[in-house]
Order: sequence, then C-alpha cells, then structure tokens
Amino acid sequence: MAVPFRRTSTTKKNKRRTHFKLQVPGMTACPNCGEMKLAHRVCKECGTYKGKEVVSK
Ligand SMILES: [Zn+2]
Repeated sequence: MAVPFRRTSTTKKNKRRTHFKLQVPGMTACPNCGEMKLAHRVCKECGTYKGKEVVSK
C-alpha cells in the first residue's frame, strides 16, 4: 500500500534500502591472456573464446 513519504521515517527507509546494492556483471579471467572479461563473451584483449581465436586483431 502506498504511504505518504513523511510517514516513513528515515531509519525505516534506510533499513529497507540495505538490500539495494550495486550489481557487478559476471567477470572472469581469460584463460588465454588472464585479462578480466565478461563471462560467456569473447575476450576483448586477445579475441578468443573457449581457447580458440574467433576474432583476429
Ligand atoms: Zn584474453
């Protein structure tokens, strides 16, 4: 139910917001060059995926 915002104390509001967190995208180290890369994506640094070069530089 909607509640007027002045009826919700700062403490109550802040306690609710303890569950609000910044999300970090799934990052893993590239097995080929060791750079951090997004999971399930081709590595930006060396262009490999699952140990094979799929994008040439
Ligand atoms: Zn790489």
